[in-house]
Amino acid sequence: MRLKGKGIIVTGGASGIGEASVRKIIAEGGKVVIADLDADRGNALVSELGDDRVRYIHCNVVDSHDVETLFQSTAEFCGVDGVFNNAGIGAITPSAETTDEDWQQVIDINLTGVFKVARMSLQYMLNNGAGSLVNCASILGHFGQSQTPAYSAAKGGVLNLTRTLAIETATNGIRVNSISPGYVDTPILSALDEESKNALIALHPMARLGRPEEIANATAFLLSDEASFITGADLLVDGGFTAGKS
Ligand code: NAD
Repeated sequence: MRLKGKGIIVTGGASGIGEASVRKIIAEGGKVVIADLDADRGNALVSELGDDRVRYIHCNVVDSHDVETLFQSTAEFCGVDGVFNNAGIGAITPSAETTDEDWQQVIDINLTGVFKVARMSLQYMLNNGAGSLVNCASILGHFGQSQTPAYSAAKGGVLNLTRTLAIETATNGIRVNSISPGYVDTPILSALDEESKNALIALHPMARLGRPEEIANATAFLLSDEASFITGADLLVDGGFTAGKS
């Protein structure tokens, strides 16, 4: 029960890695607010897990007003002890053909949205004198990958934003870390055909994709007090992907 009594926001908590993290936080004794755009999936999760432990709040992380309301409601429900800043979208477009709109949408959600949630997290955590923020980056923040210009740029930005926030708040009882998953079998990969998925599998020394639960386990650790001397770090959970690149 490493998160007993803690109140935690999971953005993008209705699906994939976020959903697995919601389940893990509950299993570890915490309470969760799911912040997402997918009301059907979010509310289904609340029905399954029980509304004394989980709430769904409709929130577009790009919208500052939504983010403010999310934190106010969470403070009333369970307090803001931790935040998994996880909402994101995938995007594959050849760089030369990426439109302004393609670029802007990914940067808005995967970088600006992460900043807006982080900014509000710090406001509440500074007030509380404690807190753990975990930002979701990616192996693509560490390495280039063709046809992912905005996604890779955003994830690289998340890594350095994390370090910046961590050193700024290190003496305030606040820890800020990131997690970098390898390719994980979630709906974000649903656009890929079987051949493309197999090509991704081959990039991982473990010769498989990650499971959402495996990312959730590592996230729960970073959110918990067991990670009390860890800040400004990035935790790679990638089946050895990056080890093969160094
Ligand atoms: P997913 O599509 O299963 O879940 C993403 C969730 O975010 C969805 O529920 C979606 O509704 C929500 N969301 C999207 N835009 C939003 C917005 N503007 N405001 C609020 N919620 C929004 O994807 P996933 O694979 O679970 O991805 C979660 C995170 O993990 C993302 O940041 C992604 O970049 C990162 N990641 C995923 C992989 C992978 O292979 N699956 C690898 C590395 C990093």
